[in-house]
Amino acid sequence: MSDPNVQYMPNLTYGLLSCKVLGQRGLSVIFKDGGCKILHGDGSVITESLKISNQLYFLTTNPPLTPQNHRESIALVMAPSFDLVHKQLAHPGKATLELMIRKKIVYGLDGVPDDSADFNCTACIHGKMTQGPFQEGHEVATEQLGRLHSDICGPMEVMSLGKKCYFSILVDDMSRYLWFHPCAVKSDFTPWFMKMDSLFTNHYQSHTKILRSD
Ligand SMILES: [Zn+2]
Repeated sequence: MSDPNVQYMPNLTYGLLSCKVLGQRGLSVIFKDGGCKILHGDGSVITESLKISNQLYFLTTNPPLTPQNHRESIALVMAPSFDLVHKQLAHPGKATLELMIRKKIVYGLDGVPDDSADFNCTACIHGKMTQGPFQEGHEVATEQLGRLHSDICGPMEVMSLGKKCYFSILVDDMSRYLWFHPCAVKSDFTPWFMKMDSLFTNHYQSHTKILRSD
């Protein structure tokens, strides 16, 4: 949000109000009898806190307390919710927060609903993800040998009977046909590939167009 003059956002779910800023805008904030009221300069009430005992003052404008022409001065509409308290308390687990509310383990959660049936915190889900997003797939080659994928694996702990501890593969992108070659060292790949490419020319009258490797 870049407009510093916005004071009322209809779809805002939660937020915090600054008493200092309200004062600078000519509004009064009164804390009395455990509640809080925000008033215009002429004394008319814009909004007041819900009648619940809590560490925070949850403001409400439902039903509207002010004439319609004053509603643009209202900065925040909010009610205590499981989601809001989850964020205010630094994202505790769902079961933990339910327990905190039901057993009144934490002071100041009176009146917060402990119903977490529809609760899902996107930030928590992202934080627990261990798998990164998958890369976008590439366009499949339109002809055989149009694109070959290569990889060299090893060294293996156990050598083959032919004393090879690496292997190279070539995969044709279109047909998924795979060629396999055991190697003694990684550099065996290049002469093998040159040999394979000559073989492709003899058999298929076509060269490798693109060779892809990591
Ligand atoms: Zn969370």
